[in-house]
Amino acid sequence: MFTKKIGIDLGTVNTLIFLPKRGIVLNEPSVVAISKKEKKVLAIGVQARKMLGKAPQEITVIKPLLNGVIADYKAAQAMLTYFINKTSSFLRLFRPEIMVTVPVGITSAERRAISEAVLKAGAKNVYLLKDPVASAIGAGIKITSAVGNMVVDIGGGTSDAAVISLGGIVSCACVRTGGAKIDQSILDYVKKRHNLAIGETTAEKIKINLGSALFLEKDKFKKIKGRDLVSGLPRSAKIYSSEITHVIQEDLGEIIKIIKQVLQETPPELISDIMDRGIILTGGGAGLRNLDILISQTIGIPCYTAEDSLFCAAKGLGQALDSLETYKQNISTIK
Ligand code: ADP
Ligand code: MG
Repeated sequence: MFTKKIGIDLGTVNTLIFLPKRGIVLNEPSVVAISKKEKKVLAIGVQARKMLGKAPQEITVIKPLLNGVIADYKAAQAMLTYFINKTSSFLRLFRPEIMVTVPVGITSAERRAISEAVLKAGAKNVYLLKDPVASAIGAGIKITSAVGNMVVDIGGGTSDAAVISLGGIVSCACVRTGGAKIDQSILDYVKKRHNLAIGETTAEKIKINLGSALFLEKDKFKKIKGRDLVSGLPRSAKIYSSEITHVIQEDLGEIIKIIKQVLQETPPELISDIMDRGIILTGGGAGLRNLDILISQTIGIPCYTAEDSLFCAAKGLGQALDSLETYKQNISTIK
């Protein structure tokens, strides 16, 4: 029988779509702009993200996902339908099988909400694949071998640490800290220390341009623009990389804490494998400068950032769609 398959990495910050033989065909922010009065969807994805912090009062820009699960069902539904239609014109002819990534600790109600939204978007059936498993496969780890591997996915809303062996998750932990929390810490700091109000997008830019998990040998700075909290007028300020390193330590500490916790719960034989093979970082947050070195130094085990860390989960979905049987213990099917 002829079936089409689609992989969706449904993230709190970004949604990616993978099509077999074509690869990643969509990478857009998980954002929807809605008119306040009529509740009409005005823009989705990249277009909606541009409105964040800039929209007039009658428009609300919302993020339908929170910590990897659906927070606004209607908006999530609209977003999924739009993204799927945008990439898969064949949908009108064939109802596809859709595989979606989900957080490990998801409740049955959250699971149901995601699968219903995907079924309504036109899927014939839905496969749910655990997030860390998708990331590990996409990072090139042979997860089915009898060897322990540790993967730490640092996303927008959450970070997960998991040890995987023989195709299954042996131990894992999750914390509601990720890229977005780091942006918020930067925003709060700039407000408090520099008396300057900035938006989320500026805070994220500061993180990407200046952020480093370790103090740089040669400090860098950037001029940023915002609104003076005292005068209410526009003003610019110089922000140094060392300030950001200092500010984000607490959030990074939260991520390191779950890595330690997972290692403490991991059987000794697998620990020895992880010491040999190192810890692999995936997700957009893994792009933070020197994060791998900070983790190596703190934990005492080598740590590496996966290539194209932002795309690991989507690539993993692609491989899992190709070999459903191989990864079946991590996949639940909903029809
Ligand atoms: P999710 O799966 O939760 O949607 P992603 O894995 O797509 O999250 O990662 C998104 C996060 O990664 C955002 O918070 C973004 O700011 C962050 N990010 C992307 N690139 C970098 C970078 N170079 N340095 C630091 N953070 C980054
Ligand atoms: Mg993700």
